[in-house]
Amino acid sequence: MHRVKVRIVEDALDANNTIARANRDDFDRAGVTVVNLMSAPGAGKTTLLERVLGPGLDGVRAGVLEGDVQGSLDADRLAQLHVPVVQLNTDGGFGGECHLDANMVRSALPALDLDALDLLVIENVGNLVCPAEFRVGEDARIMVSSVAEGDDKPLKYPLMFRACELVVVNKVDLLDHVDFELDRYLHHLDTVHPGVATIQVSARTGEGVEQVREWLAALPARVAAERDVGTADAATSAPSGAPV
Ligand code: MG
Ligand code: ZN
Repeated sequence: MHRVKVRIVEDALDANNTIARANRDDFDRAGVTVVNLMSAPGAGKTTLLERVLGPGLDGVRAGVLEGDVQGSLDADRLAQLHVPVVQLNTDGGFGGECHLDANMVRSALPALDLDALDLLVIENVGNLVCPAEFRVGEDARIMVSSVAEGDDKPLKYPLMFRACELVVVNKVDLLDHVDFELDRYLHHLDTVHPGVATIQVSARTGEGVEQVREWLAALPARVAAERDVGTADAATSAPSGAPV
């Protein structure tokens, strides 16, 4: 019984990777660099995007695919900043899933004018577990981790912290008010993902946001350079530690 269950999970991830590759081909054809933005609920993904994308991104044309179980609260906030945004709800035909998968993203592609974009940020459903298991065709993955969540989270959700190229440590303006030891957190993070890039920010006050903007603005050129040497194949490689 247990063996059968494992087989089904493997098949589902294989099918997801096939669709992720198709998404990736479409993004490559349109010359769009894609970021999968992940975090727990309330870590500050949308506020960070408002801060980063609102003033513009140094000539990089950015859009957002906003994933939520229900509603369009976050997409409405971003649309106010004149950022092209498409809402993707998982309760509309996808069973209210707690993550985005490649098929859901594929279903939203017709609503996106990819030729008008250089960078697409896919804001995943807030969840520290399964978003890390489903590639959606992205070039890079960023996770936002807020100090309000506790400094033990890298040890408790290692796959998520391992599956990203950048960890944005948000809400540092709250450090004096929460039991969060930054050094201990960074040590835990280094244990599960040695050498991962980190940026400490407060999306609320704006502290550190400029560094995130620079990282994102530089990403399309970095990805293009990697693609030229033929090493970029993130859509098909499973995150380390994922069941494959
Ligand atoms: Mg959000
Ligand atoms: Zn899920």
